Amino acid sequence: MDIQERIQALVAPDSPAQQRRAMAKAITLLESTRADHRAQADALLNALLPHTGKCLRLGISGVPGVGKSTFIESLGVFLIEQGLRVAVLAIDPSSTLSGGSILGDKTRMERLSVLDGAYIRPSPSSGNLGGVAEKTREAMLVCEAAGYDVVIVETVGVGQSEIAVHGMTDMFVLLQLPNAGDDLQAIKKGVMEIADLVVINKADIDPDAATRARAQIHSALRLLGMHGHPDHATLDTVWQPKVIQISGLLGQGLDQFWAAVTEFERLGRANGRLEARRQQQAIRWMWERIEAGLKAAFRHHPAVRDALPATTQAVLGGQLAPSSAARQLLGLAGTLTAEPSA
Ligand code: GDP
Repeated sequence: MDIQERIQALVAPDSPAQQRRAMAKAITLLESTRADHRAQADALLNALLPHTGKCLRLGISGVPGVGKSTFIESLGVFLIEQGLRVAVLAIDPSSTLSGGSILGDKTRMERLSVLDGAYIRPSPSSGNLGGVAEKTREAMLVCEAAGYDVVIVETVGVGQSEIAVHGMTDMFVLLQLPNAGDDLQAIKKGVMEIADLVVINKADIDPDAATRARAQIHSALRLLGMHGHPDHATLDTVWQPKVIQISGLLGQGLDQFWAAVTEFERLGRANGRLEARRQQQAIRWMWERIEAGLKAAFRHHPAVRDALPATTQAVLGGQLAPSSAARQLLGLAGTLTAEPSA
C-alpha cells in the first residue's frame, strides 16, 4: 500500500472499519523496529502531519488502583455521547522494565471499547521509556489524522513516565485518592507541580475525606505555584491549576471535569499558550531523538566499541578520570570531538 492510499484510508475512509484497519496498520508500521520500515514510517508521519493538530491531547496519570481505567472509560463514554470521538493510548513504564504490565491490558474498558467513536491501543511493550514514548507520540498523530477529537494518554505514577506524558500533551491530569499523605508523595516526585488539573477520585467512598484532600492539595498547588514552576509562571495570569472531586465509578463530576478541561483549552488557545507548548514539545522531541541517535551511533562506532571495555575498567579501577575517559572515547568516534559538556 503506498503512502497516499494509507493517508486516504485514514483521513477519508470508505467505512469506519476500513479506517480502524488503516489505523492499526499505520501504528504497527510506526512501531516496527526494522530499519527498512523506518523510511516508510517517516514518509507516513510526514504525510500525516498536515492532518494533525486539531484534537485535544490529554494526559492522565495516577498510582495503580486510583481508578484511571474506570475514569477514562466513564469519561470516554460521556464524551462520545456528546458526539466526540475519543482515542486512548497508554505508556506503561513497567512493560519496558520487566516485560510485565502495571496498566494491564485494555480489555478492561469493555464498555468503551465497543463504541464506534472509541479507539483504544495498549502501550508499546518493548524498548526503553524514550522509545515507548516516541511510539506513543507517533500513534497519537495517527489518531489525530483519523479525526479523533480527544486523545487520552494514560500512564502510571512512577515519575519519569509522567514527565514523558506531560511532554506530549496539552493538559496533564493527576488522579489522586482522597487519602491524606497521598498528595505528599506526588509532590515529592515532582508530579504535582506539572499537573494542570488534580482530580480526587472515589469521592463517593468518603465525601468528607475528599473535601479535606481537595483543600490540602489546593494549598499545596498554591505553594508550588509560588515557587514559580516555569510552566505555571506563564499560566499564572490565566490558568490556576484546579482540584476537583469525582467518582469515576458512578460517573459523578464528569461534567465538571470536562468544563475545566474546555476552559483550560479555551484560555490556552486564546493566549497562544497551547500552541507555544506544542512547539516547545516538538523541538524537545527532535532533540531527544538527536541525543538518542548520537548515543546509539557512538556506542556502535567500531573504535569506541573496541576501546570501551578497557576504558571502563580504567575508570572503575580509579586510574582514569571519568571526564578524561569520555574525552578519549569521544575522540575515537572522530566526528564527535566536542567537549562532552558542549
Ligand atoms: P487503575 O489501576 O488506576 O486503572 O484503577 P482501576 O480503574 O482499575 O480501579 C481500581 C479499583 O477501584 C476498581 O476496583 C474500581 O472499581 C475501583 N474504583 C475506580 N474508581 C472508583 C470510584 O470512583 N469509586 C469507587 N468506589 N471505586 C472506584
